[in-house]
Amino acid sequence: MDHASFTEICLHQLKMSGVHEGERLIVLTQGNDRLAYADAFMAAGQRLGAVMYHMRLPAPLPSDGWAVGVTGLAEMPGAVDALKNCDMLIDCVFLLFSPEQFSIQASGTRILTAVEPPELLARMLPYPELREKVTIAAEMVERAKVMRITSPYGTDVTYKLNTYPTVAEYACTDTPGRWDHWPSGFVFTGGDDDGVDGTIVVAPGDILLPQRLMVREPITYTIERGWITDIRGGLEAQIVKSYMDSFDDPRGRGMSHVGWGMNPNAKWHNFVPGEFPGGMGMEARSFYGNVMFSTGPNNELGGPNDTACHLDIPMRNCSLFLDDSPVVIDGDIVVKEIQLTQR
Ligand code: FE
Repeated sequence: MDHASFTEICLHQLKMSGVHEGERLIVLTQGNDRLAYADAFMAAGQRLGAVMYHMRLPAPLPSDGWAVGVTGLAEMPGAVDALKNCDMLIDCVFLLFSPEQFSIQASGTRILTAVEPPELLARMLPYPELREKVTIAAEMVERAKVMRITSPYGTDVTYKLNTYPTVAEYACTDTPGRWDHWPSGFVFTGGDDDGVDGTIVVAPGDILLPQRLMVREPITYTIERGWITDIRGGLEAQIVKSYMDSFDDPRGRGMSHVGWGMNPNAKWHNFVPGEFPGGMGMEARSFYGNVMFSTGPNNELGGPNDTACHLDIPMRNCSLFLDDSPVVIDGDIVVKEIQLTQR
């Protein structure tokens, strides 16, 4: 995408995020990654009269993969202080789950993560109706005591909801201390630490992240009192188990966030190899009517599990009930107040 077009979508984003004259924004990048993002955000912010900075961290040392919550900022308290002192941080590195991100938010700085390819950012711009409906959905989850998910493949799992807050992601943020991720469009919470029980069958066409795999053979998870006690299936089940074992941390078999996707501009069928090299799967997490469960850490919601072993698994054709009332039926949202159509 050329600089002028990229600047235009960043301008839309910053307006949706309430950026105004005199605010101080820092765009954070690392090494040679996403320098064009910094240029586009800087130009867009200047047009709104904001004071713009670009903080560029050195490239990370080589490592053997993604360790959730580990960032270069851990060794740079001065940089963290600067980020605490601005109004909004545009995170083009991916600080999520890091203690640095939590402390920056706690200081009142709002954070927007933007790491997906520009073409996807453009296709999934935030808009007021998305924000409004995801917020209503979050209020519904907030009120509920039990979430039950079923599917034609044999999923039947219950999450007790008495402990954790609900998070709405609608791809922009204008509230001090609040984080969001562009693109997005979904809602989630977490079950009580010992309050998730049942069976989840991940079916063909469902998606494993961060593996970026579309499942071809069912994976059957057995969950008892908040922990996965058994995983069965074919090749993809073996991959999940092998991945989990590589962390040497049994807490990777805990239950993490759970919720559903609401963005009609996100498409399941776009999840094909090669479409957006470098993307991390936000479109798959967001597609309308998916039910996404995840495994591993719940510290993002304030829980005690901070394992680095995390999978997000958006599923199609599920039904989701809050206190027995249907919200999603067979992969389609059935509550009028939160329905959205493509625009
Ligand atoms: Fe996740």
